[in-house]
Amino acid sequence: MGYALTSGIFDELLGQPEAIEQLQRAIASKAEGVHHAWLFTGPAGSGRSLLAKSFAAALQCEQNGCGNCQQCSLALADAHPDILTLATERVTISIDEVRSLVQKSQMSSTVGDYRIVIIEDSDRMTERTSNVLLKALEEPQEKTIWILCAPSVADLLPTIRSRARNVLLRLPSATEVAELLIKRDGIDKDLALKSARQAQNHVGMARRLAGSQDARARRAETLREISSITNLSRAMLAAEKLLGVAKRDAEALAKERDTAEKEHLMRAFGLAVDERIPPNLRPQFKDLEENQKRRNTRALRDGIDRIFTDAESFFRDVISLQLQANAELTNEDLIDELNLRVHGTTVDDNIAVLDAITEARKRLASNVRDLLVLESLCTRMILRQDVAA
Ligand SMILES: [Zn+2]
Repeated sequence: MGYALTSGIFDELLGQPEAIEQLQRAIASKAEGVHHAWLFTGPAGSGRSLLAKSFAAALQCEQNGCGNCQQCSLALADAHPDILTLATERVTISIDEVRSLVQKSQMSSTVGDYRIVIIEDSDRMTERTSNVLLKALEEPQEKTIWILCAPSVADLLPTIRSRARNVLLRLPSATEVAELLIKRDGIDKDLALKSARQAQNHVGMARRLAGSQDARARRAETLREISSITNLSRAMLAAEKLLGVAKRDAEALAKERDTAEKEHLMRAFGLAVDERIPPNLRPQFKDLEENQKRRNTRALRDGIDRIFTDAESFFRDVISLQLQANAELTNEDLIDELNLRVHGTTVDDNIAVLDAITEARKRLASNVRDLLVLESLCTRMILRQDVAA
């Protein structure tokens, strides 16, 4: 983990040169005023939230995002008093949450030049809630900047879209992800490329796979469970096991993130990692802990989501083999398990599994019980009877 200590704030972001250039232009002309509303759109894993955080830091930083100063460090540690972030763990963002943000957005900044409000899942607003936000965007407060993140512009009301400047992110290629792992984390070339493919080009996930033996073991376990599904009872059993893997994964990830953020905050205050926290700074650390606790409630969902990603890579390999597409396999080491499915299913079966994964993601987001979502997905992976016997 760890952000660059010597270079710019946008270095962690990968494969987004156009987006970064657009933002750097805005930051360079700070003196003439910065547009008050931004909409960052791109698929999961493209780095929307990281870009929002980095942009916010760069706006507050006297050197336009050095990555080093107190403003940057506080922003990166999610502890900057003038940067508010709303990341909901619920299906929809409530109208009260947005009202309270609007209220806070009208207060003047304390340590930074701007008051910045980031809404991470701004696609999760009902029309009524959106209208509360719209009102704030229509009457912009001086030095208040709104950053909305969503999968695509279509996820927001046209009235909001028209007021925000759109920054479009794309999913980086496997080679780009691998290059980052090699350059920034010193990961060996083969492992970097393999991890990038296995993570389906999701940077954070790729880095974990490349850097953590445990994360790799959990991925292997996930795929072992998935390939064990031949009949209904196996499907039910696998669903339960997969939930266990997701739990362990979520716990491990939460711990890693919490520690990294705390270290950021220590650095921001010029403390050594193992130093005692002086009493006057304790409230800041308490705030961080509370934010972390809130965030960790959604970590299990993220863990299950990673299982979906692993499953996708597996079934894409099966389809690729069935179509004799000669594409490079993500899970070559599981060739026997893949072949069992090549013969035990049709291409249509496997396309249906991929659709079922998309559906499962939606159900999980709409608060269907975790185990139920996994069970119904696993039953879609059962082999055809004539082969399974
Ligand atoms: Zn800075």
